[in-house]
Amino acid sequence: MLTRYPIGLVATAIALFIAVARLIHIFKLIKAGSKATGRTTSFARRAKVELEEVGGQRRLFQWTVPGFAHAITFWGFAVLILTIIEAYGDLFQKNFAIPGIGHAAFVGFIEDFSACAVLVALIIFSVIRLSADPRRKERASRFYGSHTKTAWVTLGMIALVIITLFVYRAAQTNTGDFPYGWWAFASHGLAKALHSLGMGANRTIETVFVDLNIVVIMSFLVLVVYSKHLHIFMAPLNVAFTRQPSRLGALDKTPAIDLETMDEDTIFGAGRIDHFTWKQLLDIVTCTECGRCQSQCPAWNTGKALSPKLVIMDLRNELFKKEHKALVPYVIADDVLWACTTCGACVEECPVDIEHVDAIVDMRRYEVLNKSRFPSEAALMLRNVENRGDPWGLGAAKRLEWTEGLDFEVPVIDGEIGDDVEYLFWVGCAGALDERARKTTQSVARLLHRAGVSFAVLGPAETCTGDPVRRLGNEYLFQMQAQQNIETLQSAKVKKVVASCPHCFNSLSKEYPSLGGNFEVIHHSQLLARLVAENKLYPGHLAAKVAYHDPCYLGRHNQVYGPPRSVIESLPGVDSIEMGRCRERSFCCGAGGARMWLEEHQGKRINLERTDEALGTGADVVSTACPYCLIMLDDAVKERGRAEDVKVLDVAQLLERSMEPAPGN
Ligand code: SF4
Ligand code: SF4
Repeated sequence: MLTRYPIGLVATAIALFIAVARLIHIFKLIKAGSKATGRTTSFARRAKVELEEVGGQRRLFQWTVPGFAHAITFWGFAVLILTIIEAYGDLFQKNFAIPGIGHAAFVGFIEDFSACAVLVALIIFSVIRLSADPRRKERASRFYGSHTKTAWVTLGMIALVIITLFVYRAAQTNTGDFPYGWWAFASHGLAKALHSLGMGANRTIETVFVDLNIVVIMSFLVLVVYSKHLHIFMAPLNVAFTRQPSRLGALDKTPAIDLETMDEDTIFGAGRIDHFTWKQLLDIVTCTECGRCQSQCPAWNTGKALSPKLVIMDLRNELFKKEHKALVPYVIADDVLWACTTCGACVEECPVDIEHVDAIVDMRRYEVLNKSRFPSEAALMLRNVENRGDPWGLGAAKRLEWTEGLDFEVPVIDGEIGDDVEYLFWVGCAGALDERARKTTQSVARLLHRAGVSFAVLGPAETCTGDPVRRLGNEYLFQMQAQQNIETLQSAKVKKVVASCPHCFNSLSKEYPSLGGNFEVIHHSQLLARLVAENKLYPGHLAAKVAYHDPCYLGRHNQVYGPPRSVIESLPGVDSIEMGRCRERSFCCGAGGARMWLEEHQGKRINLERTDEALGTGADVVSTACPYCLIMLDDAVKERGRAEDVKVLDVAQLLERSMEPAPGN
């Protein structure tokens, strides 16, 4: 015993010193971030998420095989903590037993079983890494840009932890000091191979390998705190402080932009790394470089410079530097920053709850509000929203044109909404002003009228919710728009809103409450699905093969996946098919994040990529539930020369067509 404990203890002391110093440094960096709001509320909900996402590895299982391998490793190491304690005990005492656990046969079994399972997981990880080698697959690999060499070293270190463990346990078996019987099957199996070496050799092997086991574990600890494997410590924290009640939908107002309190020293968004909130800095050090976000990003998948993973990695590099530069364009290039559609695919996919969209929008906020820097094409849209109340600059006078030709009157609120009117129909700028989107608006209105649902509109008093300007970074203008709309809705005594555009739906339901606007908001697809289910609308026969495209701001941002599908599936004769990328994994149309008004200068156009996927299903109708998606997909279908045989229709139009052909629809 005297020979073995100095090495084990010295190695432990050195490693702990390095690791603790590094962790203190990291926590100081995080603490230097600005204030984050709402991160410590809803304790019970946070505890549940922690149990599900960390304990249950729920998000990891979104990818079955890697999720399985990661879960085995996580749960395996949870058990192997027992063997680490035993190794330290063995430094001092033969036949050491953990107090309260002892030498029960089952413990020996579960330890050996877990160690073997981790070895199997390592093989799976190796196969995954080899089959997605970025040197061969380049951008198509989710590991492109990740530190792959460190990942291999880590796999090697974990293998060494298991190998040294088994060797010293096997040698212990031969020296008669191993406390577990045959239930520790792997240790006993290896002991047979070492038995012929004799007692003396086995004693030496035991001493050397128990020390080696501890040295490897301690070296691994140092590697962890200096690599992406820092997530072992940081991920449980990051998950604990994740946005509640959901990670997507509303953008944070951080750093606080309050029209009442701001002055010339106010910093809008993030222009330097220390402008981010502590939660955003925690995000940055938590990234595992797994590349799941990158693999789903529509910008990356169509050949653009933006990868959400590389954004986080570049920010992390900057965080660890002594001198900080302006983030844009020195750390994050312009073509990276403005390529984001805020689709949320990265956030949805991230297993450790990193919130990429907020970081990107905060950098945009700084560029737009502190430096007046943004793509030149966006200038007109911003001016139009500010001066005319809609992104196209068509003005309030045109907001009721869509009602022309309807065979009933659409009530326009003048003063207060009537007691007998159930819903305020929020039409949205596209729904009121774009020729194609107007057809959806008319269908929704006719269907509500037919179902006997009372509704009224604001008409010229409605103005842009501010969604595109907020996503572009103009938080100031967003709050002006939002306050104006909240005032209008409150003075009209509106309680229930049906919104046709998912971007309006998201702003009204998720973002206005933080500015004092609380309304019960429903999307038209939800209302129509309910009206069909309640037999207030009777779908007719429609022979069509329909592929439904999930709008990001209806699906991922608001988890509305079922209602539009149930409308489609309620139509007799319709063959409803899914695209490969659907629901949570739906692929953006390219219009979100104000990208509707920006040019795509790099790679393939996102709407063409999505439309090619839809056309590949053989569908004769591409259906959706968002005016932005409708316009983007319709443009792409025309560009592919398929406008004659493939229609792009909102679910409301489909439902109405099944009931009777509507003139001009
Ligand atoms: S929000 Fe969408 S476009 Fe933006 S980085 Fe994430 S996945 Fe890419
Ligand atoms: S941000 Fe999340 S999904 Fe993307 S590489 Fe990092 S850990 Fe993986």
